[in-house]
Amino acid sequence: MKLVVVGGVAAGMSCAARTRRLDEHAEIVVLERGEHVSFANCGLPYHIGGTIQERDRLLLQTPASLRRMLGLDVRVGHEVLSISREAKAVTVRDLATGDTYEEAYDKLVLAPGAAPIRPNLPGIDDPRILVLRNVSDMDRIQTVLDAGAKSAVVIGGGYIGIEMAENLKERGLEVDLVEMADQLMTPLDPEMTRPLEAHARWHGVRLHLGAAAAAFTATDDKQLRVELVDGEMLTADLVIMAAGVKPESQLARDAGLDVGERGGIRVDQHLCTSDPDIYAGGDAVEVTDHVMQTPAQIPLAGPANRHGRTIADNLCGGDSIYTTTKGTAIVKVFEMTGGATGTTEKRLKAAGRRYEKLYIHPSGHAGYYPGTATMHVKVLFDPDTGRLLGAQVVGYDGVDKRIDVFATALTAGMTIQDLQHLELSYAPPYGSAKDPVNMAGFVGSNMMAGLVDVWHAEDYPGQTNAGQIIDVRSKAEYESWHIPGARLLPLGSLRDSLDQIDKAKPVFVYCKVGFRSYLAQRLLKQNGFDVRTLSGGSMTFCHTHRTGVCPVSPEAPVVSYAEDKSSCQTEATGRRVDLDLRGLQCPGPIRQLAAALNSARTGDEVCAVASDPGFATDMPLWCRSSGHTLVSVTPRGAETEAIIRKGAPLAANASLTNTKQKTMVVFSGDLDKVLAAFIIANGAISMGNKMTLFFTFWGLNALRKTAPQAGGKAFLDRMFGMMMPKGARRLKLSSLNMLGAGTAMMKHVMRTKNVDSLPSLMQQAMDSGVKIVACAMSMEVMGIKREELIDGIEIG
Ligand code: FAD
Repeated sequence: MKLVVVGGVAAGMSCAARTRRLDEHAEIVVLERGEHVSFANCGLPYHIGGTIQERDRLLLQTPASLRRMLGLDVRVGHEVLSISREAKAVTVRDLATGDTYEEAYDKLVLAPGAAPIRPNLPGIDDPRILVLRNVSDMDRIQTVLDAGAKSAVVIGGGYIGIEMAENLKERGLEVDLVEMADQLMTPLDPEMTRPLEAHARWHGVRLHLGAAAAAFTATDDKQLRVELVDGEMLTADLVIMAAGVKPESQLARDAGLDVGERGGIRVDQHLCTSDPDIYAGGDAVEVTDHVMQTPAQIPLAGPANRHGRTIADNLCGGDSIYTTTKGTAIVKVFEMTGGATGTTEKRLKAAGRRYEKLYIHPSGHAGYYPGTATMHVKVLFDPDTGRLLGAQVVGYDGVDKRIDVFATALTAGMTIQDLQHLELSYAPPYGSAKDPVNMAGFVGSNMMAGLVDVWHAEDYPGQTNAGQIIDVRSKAEYESWHIPGARLLPLGSLRDSLDQIDKAKPVFVYCKVGFRSYLAQRLLKQNGFDVRTLSGGSMTFCHTHRTGVCPVSPEAPVVSYAEDKSSCQTEATGRRVDLDLRGLQCPGPIRQLAAALNSARTGDEVCAVASDPGFATDMPLWCRSSGHTLVSVTPRGAETEAIIRKGAPLAANASLTNTKQKTMVVFSGDLDKVLAAFIIANGAISMGNKMTLFFTFWGLNALRKTAPQAGGKAFLDRMFGMMMPKGARRLKLSSLNMLGAGTAMMKHVMRTKNVDSLPSLMQQAMDSGVKIVACAMSMEVMGIKREELIDGIEIG
């Protein structure tokens, strides 16, 4: 047999090497357009960042080593131009000489991979816009970096974009990452990527989510300006285009082979194309999605390598079958990891498939053993059979092994109930006796058995409005942040508080991660309440809604500690104590830190190590509000080390008292100003402040009911009332109103950027306890009556 292989990397080289192992007498020719074969493309970003220091380590084989070891005829710099199926030959161009020649085959394997997409945008041909697919691309990027590039824009938030952003940061560049979707890593659902996004931001990557590049122009100072669709301008020394890949199927198309709608070469389960003498594999072929059983393009190295092996088996007389691709993928985001297998909720929704889901937040390994942190797990399964549909895991340690266990279970067709019986390896440094995968099985089995009824974060407020939300966490947790409108009934006192819950209305309980609320749910259910527990607790709620300023929320304001360093006013005494906060969950670390600083002297330092991811993001704000100095924050794998210097007592106290009680006077009826007031009020109350908004003069218009109210007013008051906007929905922008067009535009932009509308911000504020006071004196002056104003406010 004479075998010709097009493409000499993952699929192509796996196929050539196994064919040799199975058939010593085959003539095997590998034609590769590029300068290298069998290189580690997945390692390219890490050589750019410096983690893989030696370039040669990426070059796994050379044509000479492949000839020596396997007797392969490997020709680099040889591009296949066309296929003649009748003549069973390919036309090849030697790129060094420009000569073309024919190469005959008995069997042909197409493994040309997928090419990076370069969207057809103005300025796209600028030489500073680079892609990363092979070693030559990597060398080009290295040259630009070595020449002193200081800033980069990465287009695309998939794994190549993320890896490039991280590695460019490692090289000390300023990095902007632009992603069209409203999330990084689209193989995960958006609420699962929030911790990854917060972590990338914390490392200084400026994320532009839900944004797309529109044009590229050169600036006078030799930089490149990237214009985004929303008009924002970014400037950088180079652009990395990582906006996805498209299968290289033109050769196959030109030869009349079947090609799918997504551009992938069509193959059967033996990976044979529509021509029995031509096989194809890797990123260039269309695969079958395991869960959806539909055609899909899933460009990953694992499937590509296994394709190569399957094809070789079949070429050498075997009967090897490649069934489906699960899309099992994983990405490193600085110290964090995110992975997925199977399908996502958004794809199930789009396909109209029935599904159930659960969230858990265990730790990567036993909480008492150092080096672990919270892990976020989401599992999707069939509500009727329990069969697994997909799983997503985000965290610090042990994400990879959980994803791989889920992927194996998915391949084996297991159910959510089966997961509880998996016997997984355990010792404290590696896992827990109840592994996160078992835990998902326990929770899912309870759901399938009807022992637990869940509600999900997105049921708020639509469904929860018809019932009562009860927070069963502690008072301190509730005061630190709670779901707007929720009532506090801590689990410990719940049995004695049953008479405070309305039995006629559904009860929606929640806690931080779902365990305490599960206990509460069992208690209430057995007492005759119609009750549901929030899957994933407030942690998943914050990830889903992105509005809560929960201490563990990825949206908690991120302040660079460098900022705090500059405000360092206290002289160090040179005394430093170590504080181990590992294993403690928020707000535990902050509480213990506060206690340690209380017993220290001004200028003493505490070196605290915590495993709660919220610790790193909370620290700058907490230090600022408590008058201490944050000397440094350093990520150490799953943990964070922070050095805090105790501030002078007076400064600390002054700062604390200042933040606890706030009143804002709203005397403007302009939409933008009233919006700002409510956004600030909602943020402040979530941070534990008591907030009052005092509405006076034109500000009162925001509180007016929209519908006309009963008459009984003097003529002048009536006229005045008709001239003024009635309520939050009718307010206009202070400038650029443009006869209402500007206001409509602003409302549209707010909707698309997921900023709540003014009425919804007002409702949230009132639900979470912001006191709203209407000024009696202004009401009198403006002829506004109490019944014209919305309910739930005070007159003062
Ligand atoms: P390729 O590996 O792309 O090889 C195809 C080869 O065919 C190319 O070298 C091309 O030059 C050659 N070719 C094309 N047309 C012709 C022609 N007409 N004549 C001759 N030669 C031709 N996947 C993961 O699962 N995990 C990861 O972490 C990961 N990281 C990655 C990081 C980077 C930077 C990149 C670029 C990819 C990464 N991938 C990763 C994807 C993975 O590398 C691909 O899925 C895999 O390489 C696909 O293998 P393939 O053989 O189909 O194509």
